[in-house]
Amino acid sequence: MLDSNCIFCKIIKGEINSIVVYDDENIMAFLDIQPFQTGHTVVIPKTHNMNLFDFPDVKMNDFFINLKKIASKLKIGLNADGINILQNNFSAAGQVVNHMHFHIIPRWKGDMIPVFGKKKKTVSSEELQLVLKRINENQ
Ligand code: 5GP
Ligand code: ZN
Repeated sequence: MLDSNCIFCKIIKGEINSIVVYDDENIMAFLDIQPFQTGHTVVIPKTHNMNLFDFPDVKMNDFFINLKKIASKLKIGLNADGINILQNNFSAAGQVVNHMHFHIIPRWKGDMIPVFGKKKKTVSSEELQLVLKRINENQ
C-alpha cells in the first residue's frame, strides 16, 4: 500500500523524479537530493511503512540482502573507502520522511563528514549496568 501524501510513495509512483540507483519489485534506491556526501543513497521498501517497527518481519531478509548489495554497488562504483548506514526512527531521532528508509553514505579517508554528533564521555561499567537494567525491566 502507498500513501498519496508521502514524498517517497510519490517517488515510487514516478510522480516525483529521482535518480535511481536500484529498482526491483519490492525495493527502490535513489540518490538523496541533500547528500551528506557524494553518492548518498536512500533505500526504501515499495510499501508505505512508517519506520522499522512498522515494517513486517517477513520482508526483512529480502530488504537487508538488497541493502547490502546496494551498499556494495556504491562502494565499488565510487571507489569509496568506507560506508555508513544510517536509519532514523521517529522525529526525535531525526526522521523527517515517515516512510521507512535507510541512508547509505559512501566515505573517503579524511573526508571529515560529521554523520553523527559528538560522543559522550566514556561511562563506567556500573553506569552501563544500570542502563541494561532499565532496558530489561521495561520489556
Ligand atoms: P530522514 O531525515 O527522514 O531520515 O531522511 C530523509 C531523506 O530524504 C533526507 O536525507 C532528504 O534529503 C531526502 N529527501 C527528501 N525529499 C527528497 C526527494 O524528493 N528526493 C530525494 N532524492 N531525496 C529526498
Ligand atoms: Zn510512503
